[in-house]
Amino acid sequence: MDRAFCLVYIMIMNYKVKIIIFLLLVGAVLLIIFLSKSDRSEEQQQSQTTQQPNQDLAQQPNSFEFTKLNPLFRFSAQLPSNVTAEYVPQIESISINNKEEPQIFIRYFTGNEFLTLSTVDILSRKPTEIKGHAAIEYEIKKKPNIADFPFQPSWRNEQHKLIDIRLTNNDPSIFYVFAYNPKLSEATFREFIDSLVFHNDKQSLVQPIRQAERRVTKKPFGLYVEPGQSPVAPERFKGFHNAVDYEILAGEEKKNVEIFAICGGFLREKKTAQGYGGVLIQDCLIQDQPVTVIYGHIKLGSVTKQAEDYIIPGEKIALLGDADSSETDGERKHLHLGIKKGLSSDIRGYVQSETELDDWIDFTALIE
Ligand SMILES: [Zn+2]
Repeated sequence: MDRAFCLVYIMIMNYKVKIIIFLLLVGAVLLIIFLSKSDRSEEQQQSQTTQQPNQDLAQQPNSFEFTKLNPLFRFSAQLPSNVTAEYVPQIESISINNKEEPQIFIRYFTGNEFLTLSTVDILSRKPTEIKGHAAIEYEIKKKPNIADFPFQPSWRNEQHKLIDIRLTNNDPSIFYVFAYNPKLSEATFREFIDSLVFHNDKQSLVQPIRQAERRVTKKPFGLYVEPGQSPVAPERFKGFHNAVDYEILAGEEKKNVEIFAICGGFLREKKTAQGYGGVLIQDCLIQDQPVTVIYGHIKLGSVTKQAEDYIIPGEKIALLGDADSSETDGERKHLHLGIKKGLSSDIRGYVQSETELDDWIDFTALIE
């Protein structure tokens, strides 16, 4: 009897223990599912908020900026899906890879003319135009007696196609070589090429400030002013305004007003200058010519970029200086945006003759 009772008792206990263990397991599984779901939604939120500040201003949001790998590669493009762009420092090239192997390989050279290496046989050559840039499509094959190209994908040693694209019409110019894996579909490659935006083209330009169109209310490009004859009082300057002034909107007097780079180019200088207070000077290329871009009346303390840093179009570069302070050299809070043709040390805000205005560019007319 005792023995039988004992067995029954153990069976009941086991049954209870089993139910408890089962319930604990179900609970644990439910908890894991719940936690992983809340993790994922947090990740989603994070990826939504880690957008770059320029995304709402850039003309092509979500494009990849190749200058981040090396500022010589002055363009952005939409990458094909499931690839990453990597810099190959040994030969100053960019490799766009999927999980298996490189799909697009980008090199550059500087010169006055298109050129091809003597190490390859040219199977076809077709002059064309990509986004208004002179270009040549090639099909090539490495000569059999030539050693494999070091640090390049293996298919570069086989027969494959590529496009050379000239950056500017000036001599010398940078030329970019976009070669692609024979396994990559021509349509995917074409899509990538068609998405290129060069930091020289009108398409790459970005407004310097949010709601820019509403702000040019006092001093547009070319306006003649002198004390007593100006939309601004008191006026201390005299001459033709060789820039565009962007005013603050109602309520922005005490708020941070962000300023964005209008073009892609190196920051040349950040300094205090008479008439401006804080000023940034950037070297850009706009429609085949080098230009000097002047952002005046800015808060130097807000500028994190250093001289010689490459700034991408639409990148946040500064806050406006406070009114009537050293940041604006005593002026009202506003942005003065000047563009001088050529790489120049001339950062005047006014010129004394109308013909001199020809050396300057009206950004509002350019970005229309
Ligand atoms: Zn001005």
